Parts: sequence; structure tokens; C-alpha cells
Amino acid sequence: MKYPINQIFQTLQGEGFYTGVPAIFIRFQGCPIGCSWCDTKYTWDKIANQEMLLQEIMNKKKENDHWALTNEKKILNVITNFGWKAQHIVITGGEPCLHDLRPLTIILQTAGFTCQIETSGAYPILCTAETWVTVSPKIKIHKTLNTIHQALIRADEIKYPVARKRDITTLITYLDTLCDQKKRVISLQPINHMTHAIKLCIATCISRNWRLSLQIHKYLNIS
Ligand code: SF4
Repeated sequence: MKYPINQIFQTLQGEGFYTGVPAIFIRFQGCPIGCSWCDTKYTWDKIANQEMLLQEIMNKKKENDHWALTNEKKILNVITNFGWKAQHIVITGGEPCLHDLRPLTIILQTAGFTCQIETSGAYPILCTAETWVTVSPKIKIHKTLNTIHQALIRADEIKYPVARKRDITTLITYLDTLCDQKKRVISLQPINHMTHAIKLCIATCISRNWRLSLQIHKYLNIS
């Protein structure tokens, strides 16, 4: 399977359920959603003349829109060759679920890694059953692309960016559409560390037994 990759690097997972866990990030190029608060706008477009070799992507020193087309075997190969210690892999973007992630998650898990996907949920999620899926629902952000029900049902974690009270009301109404018994982690993430959003998230998390996701990489000033 061919995948467009913006970056592969080792760091700490800064958000959601796996916060603080050393992780290898595989960042995909390409996302059509267009969230205004997006931290990775350089991954939105797959510009033909910005295509590079995988090795050049591995040597990136800064975030940019350079990307490489590669496959799951080469991805595993570069990860193994770097000798990183992290055992957890975060497949993120961009929007990784524009692609069939079964070959990638199978080869990574067979090699002993645990996998996590971070997605908008706007596309069907194709991955191994063991993969941890974090969906950040997109509700009325794009004219036609919304989180689909299959993605919501598959989610192990729902991570929602919050700026104001109505975001929480929207999320609660949205979660009511889930009528299965699956236990999911619900994480609230204050947008841009705004003080009023942090206070709102803390109060809601305590009252509903949800989690606070603080994007610790931003506090620590790491990638
Ligand atoms: S879905 Fe994710 S990558 Fe795409 S625009 Fe929104 S925040 Fe950015």
C-alpha cells in the first residue's frame, strides 16, 4: 500500500489517553477538513513539486509541506533502523484514514509495536482490531465532510477540542447518537490553552468523569 508521509519522528504523545507515553509519530500528508485551529496546516495539501525521498523526510529539521510516497515495509524499515526505543506508534496527520491502514497496522503490530490512529472520523477506519482509535469528531466544520457513524462506533477514545460552552453542549448532544454499550474514553481538549476553555474543561471533566487533554507537548515546547 502506498502512503503519503509528511514526517516520522520520536517524541512523547502529548494528547489524550496516551499522554506522556514515548511514541513514534507517523504523520500523513493530506487533509481536506480545514479546521481553523489546526496545528498542522502544512499537511493539508499534497503539492506535487514538494514530493521528496523518504530519506529526506526522515532528515527534516523543521515542519513543512514536504512529503514522500512510501509503503508499509519501508516505513517499518526506517523506524527499525533509527533504533528508537518507543514501542507505541501514533498514526496521525493530516488525515490518515484517507488510506487503508490495515497493511500498516498489521506490519507494525507483527513487529511488536502498539498502534494508535488519530483521525477526524470523516472516513471509514480500516485498521487492525487491536489498534487504539482516537476520533476527534468534526461537527459542522466542513460543508460536506462530517464524522461518520462507523468511525464513531469504532472509536476507543473521543477527543474533542473546546473553546466555549456551546462546544460541550454540541458534544453531549452528539454523544447521545451513540446507542451501543462500548466504554469509550472521552477527552476534552481546550483550544490554544485559553484560560476560560481550560476552566470549562476541568469543571466538565470532573462532573462527568471525563479526561482533560492538555497537549503537554505545547507546554514542554517539543514536537
Ligand atoms: S482534521 Fe485534523 S489535520 Fe485535518 S484540518 Fe482538522 S485538525 Fe487539521
